[in-house]
This record gives sequence, structure tokens and C-alpha cells, in this order.
Amino acid sequence: MESLFRAPSLRLLFLPAAVVVSPAPRCPTLRTLATPFPSILRRNPASFSSTTSRAGWFLGLGDKKAKTELPDIVKAGDPVLHEPAREVDPKEIGSERIQKIVDDMVKAMRRAPGVGLAAPQIGVPLRVIVLEDTSEYISYQPKSEIKAQDRRAFDLLVIINPKLKKKSDRTALFFEGCLSVDGFRAVVERSLDVEVSGLDRDGKPIKLDASGWQARIVQHECDHLEGVLYVDKMVPRTFRTVDNLDLPLADGCPKLGPRRS
Ligand SMILES: [Zn+2]
Repeated sequence: MESLFRAPSLRLLFLPAAVVVSPAPRCPTLRTLATPFPSILRRNPASFSSTTSRAGWFLGLGDKKAKTELPDIVKAGDPVLHEPAREVDPKEIGSERIQKIVDDMVKAMRRAPGVGLAAPQIGVPLRVIVLEDTSEYISYQPKSEIKAQDRRAFDLLVIINPKLKKKSDRTALFFEGCLSVDGFRAVVERSLDVEVSGLDRDGKPIKLDASGWQARIVQHECDHLEGVLYVDKMVPRTFRTVDNLDLPLADGCPKLGPRRS
């Protein structure tokens, strides 16, 4: 999930990561992992072949010279973003392959910069999410928004095979963005209180009660594991470019903030 920087001077941060953060040219064909994914099979042969054509690097089809390159963030339209991801076998969590996926995800999220990332966003159809919100990111937002969104900094979380549970009926509507749909925002209604459980990067069980903005990030990333993007559940007619973020909502759109019934 993209972090929601709002200050005009930081608009540059919405540009593609390749433009802003990484001056060295990055080529999609250079994306590769140290080891291939022999066990990954897709249900649909047609989608398998098209995924391979775009995200083939994770199958070990990439350029072997580029093992240290970070993968690019996959953009909307790539089948890997629109299909459910597979559970990680807990016995594999300690493997070099899974640990490298986690490392790549964290680096790619921070490079973007974003506050969350799911493995399909680097072309890996596995159920792994990472999230992190920092005081620095939050400091770019107006105080009134930070309060309305109940946004608080939290340390890096790596959750493998996450399971989500709603903990209350409270929901809120806010704009959100996605690194796979960069440059755009839309209003999405999300639960304000969720519990997420799963395994950490050492394979140990973790359970977390998330509320406010952190709950939104968790839900956004877990949706990715179901092949769902925020645009699949946005409030219609709220989709817009980042530059138009502050323009009024169309008549009939629900108000931003906690849903009042
Ligand atoms: Zn996203």
C-alpha cells in the first residue's frame, strides 16, 4: 500500500520508484531470484503462460547476472495480482528462498516508499505480507488527518499465511492507494478493528490486534493475497489521480471518516 504523503513538496514521491529513488536503470528482465520456484503451478494454463511472460523471473527464467537486483513492483493487469496466492509451507519458512522473498519485499516496500506490500506485488504468488509505518511518513500528513485516520507508527511486521478476523462492526471510509496502481487513489470502506494471526519470518505464531490505519493496511495487503486490488472494492466515482486528491467528492458519495449508521 502506498503511504499517503500529502505535502505538495513531496509529490515527487508519487512518481514511479525508478524515477525518484533509484537512479540506476532497472529492467524488468533483470528481475530474478536466487532459486527457481519449481513447485508453483497455476490452475489455468493460459494465465500461467501470461504470468510467466511478465513475472517469469520468479520461475528462474530471468537473467542470472542480476541476482542482487531488487524486483520491480508488479502493476495492475499482471495475472499474479488478480489470482489467489498459495500458502507457504511452514517447513519452508527458514529456507533461503523464502527468506530472500521477505528481504526483497521489505526492501521494495521501503524503496517505493510504501507502508505495506504483499508477495504477489513482486510477482511471487505466496501468502506473505510486510507492513511498516514510520513517524517520518506520518509527519508529512496534516495532524487533523492523522487523528481522523487513527494513524500511528509501528515497527516492521512480516506475516506469513495471515488470517484476518473482524473484531467489531466499526468501519471507516478513506482514500487509499496501492503501489501496483500508482498515481491513483479511491475511497475504500474498511473495518476499523481486526485481528490478524499467522507466522513470523522465523515460523513462530504471531497474533496482532490492529485498529485504525494499521487495520486498513493489514486488510489491503491481505486482499492482495486473494487477488483483490482496492479498485475492486472502492466506492464508485471516487477514483482519481493523486493530483486531484483534494477535490470534492461527487454528490451522493459517502463522507470520509468513520461510517455512522
Ligand atoms: Zn496494494
